[in-house]
Amino acid sequence: MPFKFLEHIVHWLRSFCQDLTGWISKSSPKEEEPPEPRIIPRDQHPISRKQMSRAALDVLYGLHKGGFEAYLVGGCLRDILCGREPKDFDVSTNATPEQVNRLFKRSRIIGRRFQIVHVRFGREVIEVSTFRAKASDDNQDQNKHHAHEETGLVLRDNTWGSIEEDALRRDFTINALYYNIADFSVHDFAGSMDDIDDEVIRLIGKPEKRFREDPVRMLRAARFAAKLGFHIEESTAHRIPDMAELLLQVPAARLFDEVLKLFLSGHARASYEQLQELGLFRFLFPETQQALEGDQGETWEAMLLAAMDNTDRRLLMDKPVTPAFIYAVLLWPVIQQRFAGYLSSGLPPAQALHKSATRALNQQIKHTAIPRRFSTVMREMWELQLRLDKRAGRRADAMMEHPRFRAAYDFLLLREQCGEIKAGLGDWWTRYQEEEESGRRDMISDLGNQGGGGNKRRRRRRRPKPSADS
Ligand code: ATP
Ligand code: MG
Repeated sequence: MPFKFLEHIVHWLRSFCQDLTGWISKSSPKEEEPPEPRIIPRDQHPISRKQMSRAALDVLYGLHKGGFEAYLVGGCLRDILCGREPKDFDVSTNATPEQVNRLFKRSRIIGRRFQIVHVRFGREVIEVSTFRAKASDDNQDQNKHHAHEETGLVLRDNTWGSIEEDALRRDFTINALYYNIADFSVHDFAGSMDDIDDEVIRLIGKPEKRFREDPVRMLRAARFAAKLGFHIEESTAHRIPDMAELLLQVPAARLFDEVLKLFLSGHARASYEQLQELGLFRFLFPETQQALEGDQGETWEAMLLAAMDNTDRRLLMDKPVTPAFIYAVLLWPVIQQRFAGYLSSGLPPAQALHKSATRALNQQIKHTAIPRRFSTVMREMWELQLRLDKRAGRRADAMMEHPRFRAAYDFLLLREQCGEIKAGLGDWWTRYQEEEESGRRDMISDLGNQGGGGNKRRRRRRRPKPSADS
């Protein structure tokens, strides 16, 4: 009898375990199983070695000759297929970072979160990463290399794997193509070719999980939509507004880099519009967003958009752009709101501005770090806004000597353009810069006649020295 009972228990346990295994395998998303690649031979795709940099080819051939697998991967292939020039070239291999490092003299291993190797050729850097695997939760050895926070955020990820696994760890299908240097074929593990053809940005795997692992992927979706003019696939786009808050967990320094990619890559306006549509902007610039929702919101937004159009135009003409300018515009509404408050509490304008700038910067760096070399320039641009209308005597000439004059002048034009202040001063400065010396003198004396020019320094009458005999 007891044996019979034990047999029942064993039988029940066995079928329970079978059910459990079946249930687990059914519930794990299909897209996380290593897929069969679609291998597209050289004569059936348009990607040619002519479109690759010498440096990228050297790394690919170097790895291949060293006996390793070597693929060009990700964004560069996407860009080539879209008829664009790739910004950079990334290589993926089965060689470990140490093996890559030994193979190339001018290389070094970088990163902790994702260990990769940078191989330098003059000014060009090729990023080489080792195929990575998804860390399974029950594998003790793998977990040494892979750390999760409770929220699902991936902190470290150095578990080597197969190319199939590597493909599934990438963010979007359009970024998961591999070009094999061994036979020039393209390997497509995720329907990438179709999505590029259809102009669709589709996350690999479940949006809920993939955005939790790395919330920056939401910003990348916005950036690629802006840059390529692709549309974000429904189930991916749909989850973003609800999950946007996860950006608050991302280190501020990383978000600063991402903001630069969004606003300084030639698609600033489109990126801004995507960020707003997806509800992401408020988690990057919370105080700016508050100002945009206030009474003067339309004016501020017009100023932001004008700055972004300017930036896009400058990049198109190969003119230099600085993060300080776009950040100065992004924070200006915040400063102006505080400034008015400080003025009415009796602070003089220069102090009120200084204090508003400090507060605005201190709040913003909690979200996106701003390196000091940029925040110093931003402060100067803001402070010069108070001084640009003080032109009497030699002040206008001294102002033009200021290293930040040009940026401050451009900033002033934007403020006038969007109606934040009345037009006139910007035009005066435009003419002043174009005039010869004598014309400039006339402009300054006209200011005196019109009672303009501000703060003309009053000459102090010297008191006559008491004479010796008085
Ligand atoms: P671009 O260089 O134009 O910014 P990219 O797609 O090449 O775009 P990189 O940051 O250079 O972007 O990354 C190279 C590749 O690494 C990507 O194409 C993608 O496959 C993968 N990747 C980058 N960031 C992530 C991420 N956060 N999550 C998953 N995969 C990523
Ligand atoms: Mg790239």
